[in-house]
Amino acid sequence: MTTFSDLGLSQKVLSAVTDAGYSIPTPIQAGAIPPALQRRDILGIAQTGTGKTASFVLPMLTLLEKGRARARMPRTLILEPTRELAAQVAENFEKYGKNHKLNIALLIGGVSFDEQDRKLERGADVLICTPGRLLDHCERGKLLMTGVEILVIDEADRMLDMGFIPDIERIAKLIPFTRQTLFFSATMPPEIQKLADRFLQNPERVEVSVRSSTATTVTQRLVATHSKDYEKRAVLRDLIQSQEELKNAIIFCNRKLDVADLFRSLSRHGFSVGALHGDMDQSSRTKMLASFKDGQIQLLVASDVAARGLDIPDVSHVFNFDVPIHAEDYVHRIGRTGRAGRSGAAFTLVSKRDTKFADAIEKLIDKKIEWLNGDLSALPAPVESHDSGKPERGGRDGKRGGRRDDARRDRTPRPVAGHKSDIKTDDIPTDLEPVTAKAEPVKSERKAETKPQNAGRHSNRPAPQPYPANDDNRDRRNRYRRDQDDGPTPVGFGDDIPAFMLIAGKA
Ligand code: AMP
Repeated sequence: MTTFSDLGLSQKVLSAVTDAGYSIPTPIQAGAIPPALQRRDILGIAQTGTGKTASFVLPMLTLLEKGRARARMPRTLILEPTRELAAQVAENFEKYGKNHKLNIALLIGGVSFDEQDRKLERGADVLICTPGRLLDHCERGKLLMTGVEILVIDEADRMLDMGFIPDIERIAKLIPFTRQTLFFSATMPPEIQKLADRFLQNPERVEVSVRSSTATTVTQRLVATHSKDYEKRAVLRDLIQSQEELKNAIIFCNRKLDVADLFRSLSRHGFSVGALHGDMDQSSRTKMLASFKDGQIQLLVASDVAARGLDIPDVSHVFNFDVPIHAEDYVHRIGRTGRAGRSGAAFTLVSKRDTKFADAIEKLIDKKIEWLNGDLSALPAPVESHDSGKPERGGRDGKRGGRRDDARRDRTPRPVAGHKSDIKTDDIPTDLEPVTAKAEPVKSERKAETKPQNAGRHSNRPAPQPYPANDDNRDRRNRYRRDQDDGPTPVGFGDDIPAFMLIAGKA
């Protein structure tokens, strides 16, 4: 069996790997490290969780032992699609590079330029960046890329999803052609293959089987729901509260706006909850993640992009508030639980409009997922109206929110000013302001009978604040699209049209 010492790594690196407690390289490490040390280009097809980060960090550390950095001329460059991934790679350099004296600079959005400038001035051996922020630095004329010997493009398929490929092409043009390129992607759609063909010269292709199956230790269930967000939120609350084994959970939404809504709703209901959201500045995100990792908050609402690649070893539950549109995202999401042979549970809320996405997931993982309490045909009729007086399945979010969701999702013609509207003024949401302080539990009509034994609620804990003002607004004004290393920005209001704009004036 191959061991780390067979791979050609330096003594300093080997000793740090031993201290990290690793003895056997993972397949991507065994396949990529030896050719990387020979200065070959690598095409690595592997996703997070396979040990892919160390497969480029360890050979880079070994190669960097010769030579030193000059001011404003980084020696190596790693491109990551999100701030979190970039920060995690930096942590890996600290862990495996503890016997080296290397300067590592992390250039990500949401952090002040000045601090980053100072690091560049000192000379960076390793530059870890999101593409937009790197280009911003280059345009400020403070960075010379001609000394870059190794370029790493990580999570290339995610870069494609996020619209970063033109930025990457621009960056690649700034770096000498003679560089070594290490290119990683979880999947190889044709666009990524084309990009790899352009960027790589005679690469060593290392493919570790793409996991299109989910761990057998994870219990997966579909949960039937109606499609309105307030109905889904009620179903989710019931589900969380019924989980006796729930230690902690990540709740996935498809869009960052829904992350914000769900976070607010769960806070109001007294759950111990945080959110990973694209509009949070970096230090808030790091704090949020740390609070989740050390158990100060129990539930984390996140989007795929914000949560991508996060190394959170021990999550007992995953809830898909939305069925992922891309079936592979289901595999990524579910991969957050049941790690290292532990047991885990994953629940996916499915409404009628989601069935085609649920079918695609079952096709991808090649197995039927059982329904928790009967399929969609067993669902009671939806609640017709906010004020019909009929009891709602699973309760509602206090008095607020229901109509707002209806209005947002409804694709039928909007009421026009001057015409009669069926939306009543008392349906106007009053909760449009952001949550800024500790969330108080609301009194829900179902509270008495659904009080959880152990799951979800810790209302006496201080709620972290996931939506502080971004301290980087100056930069964002000019660099709005670029500095978003969190996903596409909606145009105008996107789907999130405030409800008051949809209400007709009095006839
Ligand atoms: P990654 O795919 O880089 O996100 O790594 C996933 C996890 O695997 C991280 O927690 C690493 O610390 C861990 N890891 C990396 N290499 C090894 C190894 N050779 N043996 C055991 N765990 C590893």
